[in-house]
Amino acid sequence: MDFEVSEDLRLMVESVRRFRERELMPLERDFLIHGKLGVETRFALERKGREQGFWALEAPPEFGGAGVSNLGLCLVDEELFKHPAMFEFGGSPEPALYLGNEDQKKRFFFPIISGEKHSCYAFTEPGGGSDFASIRTVAKKDGDHWTINGTKTFISYVEGADFVILFTTTDPRAGAHGITCFLVEKGTPGFTVARQIPTMGDDWDPHELSFVDCVVPDANRLGEVGGGFAIADLQLTHGRLKISAFQLGIAQRCLDLATEWAKQRTTWGKPIGARQAIQWMLADSEVELEAARLLVYRAAWLADSKRRIRNEAFIAKLYATEMAQRVTDRALQIFGGMGYTRELPIQSFYRQVRVWRIGHGTSEIHRWMIARNMLGLSAHGQ
Ligand SMILES: Cc1cc2nc3c(=O)[nH]c(=O)nc-3n(C[C@H](O)[C@H](O)[C@H](O)COP(=O)(O)OP(=O)(O)OC[C@H]3O[C@@H](n4cnc5c(N)ncnc54)[C@H](O)[C@@H]3O)c2cc1C
Repeated sequence: MDFEVSEDLRLMVESVRRFRERELMPLERDFLIHGKLGVETRFALERKGREQGFWALEAPPEFGGAGVSNLGLCLVDEELFKHPAMFEFGGSPEPALYLGNEDQKKRFFFPIISGEKHSCYAFTEPGGGSDFASIRTVAKKDGDHWTINGTKTFISYVEGADFVILFTTTDPRAGAHGITCFLVEKGTPGFTVARQIPTMGDDWDPHELSFVDCVVPDANRLGEVGGGFAIADLQLTHGRLKISAFQLGIAQRCLDLATEWAKQRTTWGKPIGARQAIQWMLADSEVELEAARLLVYRAAWLADSKRRIRNEAFIAKLYATEMAQRVTDRALQIFGGMGYTRELPIQSFYRQVRVWRIGHGTSEIHRWMIARNMLGLSAHGQ
């Protein structure tokens, strides 16, 4: 295994660092006070990123993208997520959209690469998110159309999205084998954005979506009838790797700030960094962050070697998200009262990281899946 970062990647990460310093850092103070960047600012930043060559980084060159490797994408995300606004570059279609046919690629995939459209995806329902196989949003076939009824909740990025990658059941008795995916455009009669759900995270208020007799043409069905579970799995595995990389940037920024503070802040005539209590917090954070980094880079490297990384993504995300929670907590403690204020990004990171022990599968489900893999049990079931 070789984690040598190529000169090209090193230069790219260096330019991402400059982008963060020039474009994102000036927004930090205001973001911390108001807890909001907003969709318009995010799109404006996407456009600035595009002008500087940061666009469609994930998409292969044959589709007009930059074809950056998984390891490269992790390094980019790690750098960007040192800013609490959690901004990501644009133009990269969700993994599910690669499975579309020619017509779907024309209508949904390429408009994302050209920047005309944005998407969001919806698995979770009010009845539960972990037990994905028991979703109740039903799609019933009627000739060359499907009629969809149901409710989705906690759906992110709805505000800027033009369409939703929607997971339904077309056979409720078939569990995971009955899940079918559709691409549903905003404005389709029967599809409404029911409400925004305020959360403890900054600028991250997901939405509830309602589908009442929403008629969608069969041409908008993504993949096979009953083939939705595999699509969701692909989408989630990819997301878990990304989320793991986010944690590295967050933890690194918090640890850097805490280390500097430990050198400067003096009590009883000595910097607090001279005290073992503080040193242990720093050392534990450094060790755990390095361990997480190796897990994330290894998973990315395996993905770049065209290996299946379902289990590695579970392991990386479980460890990295729990690591980031501990590191942000220790950093906040090292800062004392200042860590709790909106004058520093630590409290924002501390609140934000909490969601990643829940979204894209909770820590409990991750542990369950890792154990099932060890025990040789099937991927879904009881
Ligand atoms: C800010 C935010 C953004 C989100 N964005 C999206 C999005 O864009 N799209 C989307 O589809 N979803 C999204 N989600 C939803 C998220 O994926 C779900 O919240 C998550 O999958 C957990 O589902 P749940 O909340 O229904 O918890 P439940 O499934 O009800 O679980 C509740 C608790 O029980 C535990 N539990 C459940 N089953 C077991 C078991 N078998 N063994 C042990 N413990 C178990 C869980 O670990 C958890 O602790 C988002 C959530 C949030 C908070």
